[in-house]
Amino acid sequence: MDSQNKILIRGGKVVNDDCSFLADVYIEDGVVKDIGINLRPAKPEGVRVLDASGKLVIPGGIDTHTHFQFPFMGLVSIDDFHQGTKAAVAGGTTMIIDFAVPRKGCSLIEAYDTWRSWADPKVCCDYTLHVAVTWWSDKVKEEMGVLAKEKGVNSFKMFMAYKDVYMVHDSELYASFSRCKELGAIAMVHAENGDLIAEGAKKMLSMGITGPEGHEMCRPEEVEAEATQRAITISSLVNCPLFVVHVMSKSSAKVIAHARREGKVVFGEPIAASLSIDGTHYWHKDWSHAAAHVMGPPLRPDPSTPEYLMRLLANGDLSVTGTDNCTFSTCQKALGKDDFTKIPNGLNGVEDRMSVIWEKGVHSGIMDENRFVAITSAVAAKIFNLYPRKGRIAKGSDADIVIWDPEATRIISAKTHHHAVNTNVFEGMICHGVPLVTISRGKVVFEKGIVHAIAGHGKYIPREPFSDYVYKRIQQRDRVCQSVAVQREPYKGEVISTS
Ligand SMILES: [Zn+2]
Repeated sequence: MDSQNKILIRGGKVVNDDCSFLADVYIEDGVVKDIGINLRPAKPEGVRVLDASGKLVIPGGIDTHTHFQFPFMGLVSIDDFHQGTKAAVAGGTTMIIDFAVPRKGCSLIEAYDTWRSWADPKVCCDYTLHVAVTWWSDKVKEEMGVLAKEKGVNSFKMFMAYKDVYMVHDSELYASFSRCKELGAIAMVHAENGDLIAEGAKKMLSMGITGPEGHEMCRPEEVEAEATQRAITISSLVNCPLFVVHVMSKSSAKVIAHARREGKVVFGEPIAASLSIDGTHYWHKDWSHAAAHVMGPPLRPDPSTPEYLMRLLANGDLSVTGTDNCTFSTCQKALGKDDFTKIPNGLNGVEDRMSVIWEKGVHSGIMDENRFVAITSAVAAKIFNLYPRKGRIAKGSDADIVIWDPEATRIISAKTHHHAVNTNVFEGMICHGVPLVTISRGKVVFEKGIVHAIAGHGKYIPREPFSDYVYKRIQQRDRVCQSVAVQREPYKGEVISTS
């Protein structure tokens, strides 16, 4: 399989975010060399032909939000970069964006180097890194510049929750957003009010509520919506683009939709879980079942939330989909068996995102195949400046391609998934939309249910700052919307003496 570097995908329907058309796709040396009807490669020897008739040929998914082997709450998430990217390609995702997260007081560059050293030898598909800003100083400001100019990082994430661990305050948000703006980077936020969560958690525990339901009750929707609004207000004053990660509630989604209708440059990322399951699981009688769903912000008990978020994705109020894949096994979750605040936060998604969204979004009739491509890869590639290298099937684009069967079904289960974790929050879900073949960097890495990917096959993809999709509007507004002082004659009258 490894020597295979010429592939002809024959007879499929190529689906991009703006159009679909019948065509063959010819791949050589990791890139798309040609697209057209009845393609005949000049040298047919050694060309592997894959039949895609009756199937869709789509850009490989881009998951904008994963945490593989993430050190968190005294543990490390169980899917590492190898297992996590194996699961990704098995589900039709060919690129992941993970987060390098320094502790407060620690170097951002060291965190970036550490995550690179973990990921580079292990990844089975391409990846890139967002870097978190968890504290503020002149050194942080300087390091953001080095990361943006020399390391290919054009997105920085700030936490408004996880008080005393990662949380930053409004003045630090203002400073970091301002720095992002100077560098042409995208500011990202985990939008929840960390102070209110800390108070709410104390209250729940004092009432004797120690189970996973307390995790949701201590941080209701308003806590997410308030922080989302605050982040938008700050980013708008700075005129910096904002990306709100893991949109979990109707309230928060409405805040984002409203801001976009006012013309603000803000993007919302619901995740596979918030688009398909709800927070009633926290009330499940089986503790381990309930705990498997604990993540922040939590899934919402309102059962109409997933479909609502999907509709906003369909109409453009929300922009992209990630997963926040951060998996902990049952025995890891059990650290919080007597206190929900000690349950490590996180759930799965990287393998099932594409199928779950096809089922709930496309099969259900909420969106079409082109919008599916937009929200699973193309828009993410545009925002994070990877387009059209990623997120599009075009001559010269990377050969990250999936042959997708829109009619086939599969049943999601922890028994058959490619994750290391022993649970799956989508357990038992029947999904139309199945990846038949996944091609990463021009190689078949998944076929007939079997992952062929080799650790280290994927590469780190550096990203340039000032993505056009995000920054053209920002820069034009700076040019035309400068604040100017009123020209007036100096006041010459009496001034009261205060001495
Ligand atoms: Zn996350």
